[in-house]
Amino acid sequence: MFGGKLPADRLWIAGRGHGICARSVYLRPGFALRRSTWRTYVSATMSDPHKCRDAGVAEAEKLSPHRPSNRLRGVFVSELVERRHALVTGGSRGIGRAVVVRLAADGYDVSFCSRADGPEAAQTVKEAEQYGGRAFHAVCDVAQADAVDAFVKAAQAELGPVYALVNSAGITRDKPMVLMPHADWQAVIDTNLTGTFNVCRSAVFGLMKRKAGVVVNMSSVAGVYGNRAQTNYSASKAGIIGLSKSLAKEVASMGIRVNVVAPGFIDTDMTAVLTGTIRDKALEMIPMRTIGTPENVADLVSFLISDKAAYITGQVVQVDGGIAL
Ligand code: NDP
Repeated sequence: MFGGKLPADRLWIAGRGHGICARSVYLRPGFALRRSTWRTYVSATMSDPHKCRDAGVAEAEKLSPHRPSNRLRGVFVSELVERRHALVTGGSRGIGRAVVVRLAADGYDVSFCSRADGPEAAQTVKEAEQYGGRAFHAVCDVAQADAVDAFVKAAQAELGPVYALVNSAGITRDKPMVLMPHADWQAVIDTNLTGTFNVCRSAVFGLMKRKAGVVVNMSSVAGVYGNRAQTNYSASKAGIIGLSKSLAKEVASMGIRVNVVAPGFIDTDMTAVLTGTIRDKALEMIPMRTIGTPENVADLVSFLISDKAAYITGQVVQVDGGIAL
């Protein structure tokens, strides 16, 4: 029987024969099994908690045929299936909200922050909780390192150790460079680039200790190709790419992946200010002739976090309708 560490890439459920309903325990990946009397072990990949639960039920039913399966499902299973924790910045609106909701649908408990504590954050919590997991929101300005540390700590106290980290908080202050006040330069760098650094610095150490986890940082096609009137924004988003590639190299050997998503023109509050001819011109530049949705971006984030992207790290993936072709 198992006495040492269990492989970290699997969810392990252990039980004791006929007593499996009452006595089964769920072991987090990497936990040591202390009891020598366990007789049953069920494993399944963590990418699909429901598959894992079904495997657990099937195994338990084989061992305890006299026990009705609804009892197994209701009592045993609800205690065994643990949802991983994904932490998202800027989750109250736009792309961040779509990511929070998508990851909740994928089976994660999700924490997120925003600067405001308004109805938008409450709406995100409501939408995420529809999927049966937990959602935790806190006010946190990602540009403030102390506030970030406090948020990460509070989120982990609420939902357990972070497994997936998505840095989506971002702002724009567009102006041609010669007209740009220093304050607008600084505000964008502080939120977009320093904010991403603050959150990675605060949360990634935990991932390293557990030797598991995924980071997705939100850049932009403006960070890859540049954009007029966006020297501050493009510099911050290019910085995120450099930060992410370097971090990917630092943590790859610890089983942690770091990737970048670079959206094109996505329909959110951030782009709602672009109207009339500016919007028409932007559409003309997109070969697919349509503006992207926050859900288009969330689908990519979901993929990069999933085990389907297990061998992808340090990459910048564009979701832009072909705008850069
Ligand atoms: P939105 O303006 O719609 O939403 C921004 C989110 O970030 C809000 O939840 C906001 O919270 C939060 N936020 C902003 N500043 C901070 C801060 N200092 N601390 C914590 N939270 C903050 O933006 P989008 O959804 O459009 O953009 C999301 C990300 O995607 C950004 O990084 C953006 O640069 C990037 N992106 C967007 C594109 C687009 O076309 N929309 C294109 C390419 C990249 P609050 O409500 O409190 O302000």
